[in-house]
Amino acid sequence: EKLLEVTNLKKHFPLDKNQVVKAVDGVSFEIYKGETLGLVGESGCGKSTTGRTIINLYKTSDGTIRYKGNDVELLRGKNRRSFYRRVQMIFQDPYASLNPRMNVAMCIAEGMDIHNIHKGKDRLERVYELLETVGLQREHANRYPHEFSGGQRQRIGIARALALDPEFIIADEPISALDVSVQAQVVNLMKDLQRERNLTYLFIAHDLAMVKHISDRIGVMYLGNIVELTTSEQLYSDPLHPYTNVLLSAIPVPDPVVEEQRERIIVEGEVPSPVNPPSGCVFRTRCPEAMDICATVKPTWQEAKPGHFVSCHLYEGENR
Ligand code: SF4
Ligand code: MG
Repeated sequence: EKLLEVTNLKKHFPLDKNQVVKAVDGVSFEIYKGETLGLVGESGCGKSTTGRTIINLYKTSDGTIRYKGNDVELLRGKNRRSFYRRVQMIFQDPYASLNPRMNVAMCIAEGMDIHNIHKGKDRLERVYELLETVGLQREHANRYPHEFSGGQRQRIGIARALALDPEFIIADEPISALDVSVQAQVVNLMKDLQRERNLTYLFIAHDLAMVKHISDRIGVMYLGNIVELTTSEQLYSDPLHPYTNVLLSAIPVPDPVVEEQRERIIVEGEVPSPVNPPSGCVFRTRCPEAMDICATVKPTWQEAKPGHFVSCHLYEGENR
């Protein structure tokens, strides 16, 4: 069952009178109920903007976002309220998203109050239940965000998102700010919750190692574009796009001998500015395999293998 359908989404921010930042410049993908789609790329590639535009924090510049078949920008009344209840977001820095003057119970119940659900006596019971669900204790309800560790704060952020019985959660780098030892705990919690509650996730991260254990499918983003999208298994075993290869080669291998012998692909130069993205292929200024055609013709987004999408001239026409 298709839950979300993003078609040719663009989000451009005006910079001055004559220039725009092309933060997201034409991405298309679908998310199916119960799955996790990982979205990966370096900072500034447009992955957070994509997430925020889906949840309607930003207006689209072009393209459409359909949730259960309905254009999210055209939702009104009951359907609109239901969308804001069933689609929730978890942020990278839970401390920034939790009001420091509100105790944990207030942080978690804020959405319930706004949406007028679980009122009265039921409200605090619900908060206790949510705290236990995310591995905290009811005694934590009266404490304040600064009294918690980063991992605990992310658990509070997750409890807050769960308070409204969501079906789809956009997690924007939920583990990037956490210690490595805590990252796996939060990922495991999210996986358990997904199984128990049939949740669907868009899981945003800046490197492939972080999304590996949670994603069913992964999209790789570069400079406002998704350049490759397929199942996690395919992406790790048979990556097609040169940029995916770069990201994969950056993942450390635990075995020191293997690590030593491994060839790391170093790409030259900086990520170009999204104000003036390169002509043709967005990755061409750093691509080790760039050809003449890459400078003039934008590669098309195509299904190179069943369920395996890529935009790169290496997989087009005679090169197939
Ligand atoms: Fe590299 Fe050309 Fe493929 Fe772009 S289209 S990734 S520049 S080979
Ligand atoms: Mg970001």
